[in-house]
Amino acid sequence: MVKKYFILVLGCQMNRSDAEKIETILANLGYQSVNSEAEADLIVVVACSIKQSAIDRVYGKAHNWQKRRKTGQLFTILTGCVLDKDKKPLGEIFDLAVDIKDINQIPEKLGVDKSVSVGDYFSVAPKHNSSFQAYVIIMTGCNNYCTFCVVPYTRGQETYKDANELINECKELIKAGYKEITLLGQNVNSYHSGDYGFPKLLSAIDKIEGDFWIRFLSSNPQDFSDDLIEVMANGQHITPYLHFAVQSGDDDILKKMNRRHNVEHYLKIIDKARLTIPNLMVSTDIIVGFPTETEAQFNNTVKLVERVSYDMIYISKYSNRIGTAASKILADDIVKTEKDRREKILTKFLAVSALANNQNYLNQIVDVLVEGHKQGQQFGKTNTFKTVTFASDNNVIGQFVQVKIVEVGSWALFGELVYPVE
Ligand code: SF4
Repeated sequence: MVKKYFILVLGCQMNRSDAEKIETILANLGYQSVNSEAEADLIVVVACSIKQSAIDRVYGKAHNWQKRRKTGQLFTILTGCVLDKDKKPLGEIFDLAVDIKDINQIPEKLGVDKSVSVGDYFSVAPKHNSSFQAYVIIMTGCNNYCTFCVVPYTRGQETYKDANELINECKELIKAGYKEITLLGQNVNSYHSGDYGFPKLLSAIDKIEGDFWIRFLSSNPQDFSDDLIEVMANGQHITPYLHFAVQSGDDDILKKMNRRHNVEHYLKIIDKARLTIPNLMVSTDIIVGFPTETEAQFNNTVKLVERVSYDMIYISKYSNRIGTAASKILADDIVKTEKDRREKILTKFLAVSALANNQNYLNQIVDVLVEGHKQGQQFGKTNTFKTVTFASDNNVIGQFVQVKIVEVGSWALFGELVYPVE
């Protein structure tokens, strides 16, 4: 009988892409994917220790699976971005806990012949869940040790995939008709392999012939170079979208976070990028309620948000993660209601800036990569990562189309289909 697996993914795009690698491994072992936990003989959880709520969810799920697990009907594997302090207790209610970089050992740990080799972490090809959008992991881990962050502890030091292998992987995807490639890493700007830094890698992928967009995530200011701005400005396929993590608009808080930039440096890069790259959209990550953050320090973040006029901010309310440097040296002293208030204030400023930025799209015709449809409407993204909704009777999912924008809100653009892009 064919064995069936279900993968539960929590957290960011890196975890989603890792799950696609695990799918390849399981498919090679003869497992078949199913859409529900109840049908599965094997459940893999790609977990995330960044938020306690995500870990609590794993506990809840794992407890529900115990009965089937104890009767031998179900085998469970825990992997992902998991802190040791979570891994130990969770390991007791899973059959197997595997470090994310060791997912290639899953066949051996499942008792399959050791000769079934799947190569190392980077050489496991993901089984992409989309036929037109692909994540490509260029690096994993992080050397930056921001005091609030678990990644250096869960994924370890940075390691990089070989540049030529990455270029070939992208060539294959484009040949297979993929329209959007997102290069992923915790800190893509520090990528290096042989004589390739990130700008050279991006430029090489941009030179591949075809009809596609390239995006990349995430960028941090400390190693963001002028070369990268030039490559983005001159690229044929590189989208004018920069996710550029700042975390706080206050220099003292940035120091306590062990971020290696200050506000002035951050703004200089944004100003230069906006001058050089036409129609650049900028998004960021901000933590509110970091330990000791005063009202005045929070107001510095508000000032930064007003100054940059972001298109999107991914706001996190600080949560104490045991094992991180911040948890050892700083008390989580901002109460939840205050964190909620600060989050609401930033969201209000964001709604205003995003709406103002979106007004520029009114009556413009934009290219959209169509991602899906809902209630008779199709939706997709512009190259600037704006969500566009429009009506169409034809199924144009996975295609580039042109849409005239007739209405805008803070979080979406609404338009009319002009015609499919040739
Ligand atoms: S750069 Fe990003 S991944 Fe690395 S430690 Fe800082 S927040 Fe975490």
